Amino acid sequence: MAKLKRESVDQVESKSFYDLIIIGGGAIGTSAAYHLARGGANVALLEEFDLNTQASGRNAGSLHGQIQYEPFEELGIEWAKNFLHGLSILADSLKLWKSLSEELGVDLEVSSNGGLMIAENSENMRHLQDKVALENSIGIESRLLTSEELFQLAPYISRKMVGGAISPIEGKANPLLTAPAFAKSARKLGADIFTNKKVVGIEKISSGYEVTSRDQKFRVKQILITANAGIPELAKFFGKEIPISDVPVQVSVTEQIEKFVHHLLYFTSEKLTFKQAHSGSLLIGGGWPARYSAKGEAILNPDSLRANLKVALSSLCGRCKSYPDLGWNRKRDSRSQSHY
Ligand SMILES: Cc1cc2nc3c(=O)[nH]c(=O)nc-3n(C[C@H](O)[C@H](O)[C@H](O)COP(=O)(O)OP(=O)(O)OC[C@H]3O[C@@H](n4cnc5c(N)ncnc54)[C@H](O)[C@@H]3O)c2cc1C
Repeated sequence: MAKLKRESVDQVESKSFYDLIIIGGGAIGTSAAYHLARGGANVALLEEFDLNTQASGRNAGSLHGQIQYEPFEELGIEWAKNFLHGLSILADSLKLWKSLSEELGVDLEVSSNGGLMIAENSENMRHLQDKVALENSIGIESRLLTSEELFQLAPYISRKMVGGAISPIEGKANPLLTAPAFAKSARKLGADIFTNKKVVGIEKISSGYEVTSRDQKFRVKQILITANAGIPELAKFFGKEIPISDVPVQVSVTEQIEKFVHHLLYFTSEKLTFKQAHSGSLLIGGGWPARYSAKGEAILNPDSLRANLKVALSSLCGRCKSYPDLGWNRKRDSRSQSHY
């Protein structure tokens, strides 16, 4: 009996020591677990809930590779120049997506038909011209489109649009599949992935850190925090205040319909992203704010839903003679979130 007990303690202890622990099981954490395990690291991942249940499993799956229009217009060219380094990282990551399905052995429904930015006036076109020039200056492929070229590529766009730009490297993937596929491959390579393990304590010890979840302790040499909205709480264990705020945004998913949207679409004048999933569902978003319930859960914001759908109807309804006037106000002043 005593021997058995001794063995089980050893087992727990040996399983609780890792070179590196990743905190957070979204796309970033599971990707890190996969890449680190592939590189030979003795790695574990701790996730508070189940994998891919937060932002990584609830997003619109757009693969972005261009300078976002809103900050470009609002913050100007100097801001955009500083963003160029980040942009080249995005471009590199888009290359990785091309072979990711094959690498992970799961069809992630990746497509790269390009991102179309549509403009409704000449001022928007001037900004697009400057934006395209800056993107091209670091080798990122993008180009302006006349209205005729735009309507040819996307005949469903409103004839009010005066032109646009295309970023051929952009596309989409299925966010429901990506993190689970990374986790599965990471496990195959020896990573330990734990769910329902909220990290509630981190302490410095001589060999590295002791990481405490509600029911277990782990000793590790290094920690990688990929906890997204949970980062500020975890940073406090290192005496750091990280000013990241958690603002929920929402995206609408329609029933599955016949395929007619082949690009990822953005609109210069209002918050909008629009695309069609592999399944046929339209995904309509743009970073419109959701709400928090009294219990602290992110819930639908009906005002955002109405405004978002109105923008989609008015900018995209190229074949409609008119679209229904639903009396919904456009919310130009709430463009605080980035394009999703
Ligand atoms: C509606 C919506 C649409 C979006 N659309 C797009 C898009 O089209 N394209 C795009 O590129 N991006 C989009 N985004 C943003 C994108 O989803 C996020 O940038 C991305 O998913 C972040 O991944 P992550 O792994 O860092 O975070 P998450 O997926 O949020 O993962 C972090 C994980 O950490 C866990 N965690 C937190 N604290 C702890 C703790 N103490 N202990 C253990 N675990 C913890 C959480 O439970 C969570 O699972 C969208 C986001 C939303 C909400």
